[in-house]
Amino acid sequence: MKLLKCILAALGLLIAVMALKTATFTKQEVTLLAPLNDSSLDKQALAMRLSKAIQFKTISHMHPEDNNPQVFRDFHAFLKTSFPALHQQLSLEMVNELSLLYFWQGSDVSLKPMLIMSHQDVVPVDSETRERWLHAPFGGEISDGIIWGRGAIDIKSGVLGSMEAVESLINNGFKPKRSLYLAFGHDEEIGGVAGAKKIAELLKKRQIEVEFIIDEGGSIVAGGIIPGVEDPIALVGIAEKGYVSLKITSKAVGGHSSMPPKHSALGVIAQALVDLENQPFPANLRYSKTMFDNIGPAMGGVNRVVFANMWLTEPIVESILSGSKTTNASIRTTTAVTMAKGSSKDNILPSEASAVVNFRIMPGETVESVTEHVASIVNNPNIIITSVKGFGNNPSSVSVSDNQNFELIKNSIYRVTQDKDLIVTPYLVMAGTDAKHYSGLSDSIYRFAFNRFKPDTLDRMHGINEQIKVDDYVDVVRFFRELIVGANL
Ligand SMILES: [Zn+2]
Repeated sequence: MKLLKCILAALGLLIAVMALKTATFTKQEVTLLAPLNDSSLDKQALAMRLSKAIQFKTISHMHPEDNNPQVFRDFHAFLKTSFPALHQQLSLEMVNELSLLYFWQGSDVSLKPMLIMSHQDVVPVDSETRERWLHAPFGGEISDGIIWGRGAIDIKSGVLGSMEAVESLINNGFKPKRSLYLAFGHDEEIGGVAGAKKIAELLKKRQIEVEFIIDEGGSIVAGGIIPGVEDPIALVGIAEKGYVSLKITSKAVGGHSSMPPKHSALGVIAQALVDLENQPFPANLRYSKTMFDNIGPAMGGVNRVVFANMWLTEPIVESILSGSKTTNASIRTTTAVTMAKGSSKDNILPSEASAVVNFRIMPGETVESVTEHVASIVNNPNIIITSVKGFGNNPSSVSVSDNQNFELIKNSIYRVTQDKDLIVTPYLVMAGTDAKHYSGLSDSIYRFAFNRFKPDTLDRMHGINEQIKVDDYVDVVRFFRELIVGANL
């Protein structure tokens, strides 16, 4: 009886603590600040210039020899005529021939410069999907308040949007105290090695320290994209995962298939692949915890109780997050078996079999540690593990999110949206961006483009019917204006 009483008392206490934690697990109070006066922005002219920019086919092809450098040069000439004030006030340096590095000298040289990144190139349009486009992919058509075409969201809107912001600020008589770089690579979609990487190397060579950097990555997602959260969320990337593809190879005698051994070389590889899939990398909630601290209070019912009590419920949270593809990718290095090869004929045993496995690496791990981990799971001296040439980078550095730079991004988002329900939170970017090449130039490298997505529009990025609303594009420009002015306060 006594024991039962003790258990009941302990349980009661636990429930009380959990209830208290849940009750105090509330959304941060948002104080909305007044936005800048944007009456000088000519919506129609902004839309027209973005439309023209989309018409330049600045495509990055998988095989760089297919690229057309002349299109990029034509695009540069277009920028020059479109932004006369900017080209008069800012210096322009061509990096590796096609990448653009603009510099706007501030009056206070003791302030570290800020840097806005974007990229000029776009992905090709898949010929099989061509006829499903409602407007020509490189037509830049404007209809019913929407600008259509490849690059509308990824990310000519970033190149043009930031230039529009600078142009309008110059025309309004704004003179920066803090210097500003605009850095536009030309090959982000194929890794950024010839563009962003070269720009970053140049800045490092000159020992330039940057206060903060902003590139694409996160965006504003409508309620419902994250299950159970009805409020919109602005996701600001503070790091991105690394990337490596490993090839695992097994050799055997081969021969005719009429008298096979128990396991052929391909069977051996298959076993290794199953082992790898069955033993995922350990979960690491460190980089998603801040995000769940921010969005958890907006969740309903049991989820809110669970996320409010992570001190107790972490294993439950881990299993909830592991259950969905998207959230699973945010908490661990992922394992994706993508390619396999055996013999060339149905009745020949392979003398060599191989498979390729793609890993997206969590911060805290490296290409090396992932390779070692794979070797320990495969645990077969007859299997050779090599990295696929040309693919492999460690996770980026992790930026600070409790400093004045993150606060500036956050405030700029709120000034534009004027939406108290919006949650602004740091998060881990699952895909790759050019920003990874800038690791080391600043402790505040953020990945956020002022795009708005709904559950059914997420796949327009790199997909069919890429488009941006004129009003949303105007907000892109407003966001950059807030950011630049805010960094000078
Ligand atoms: Zn992009």
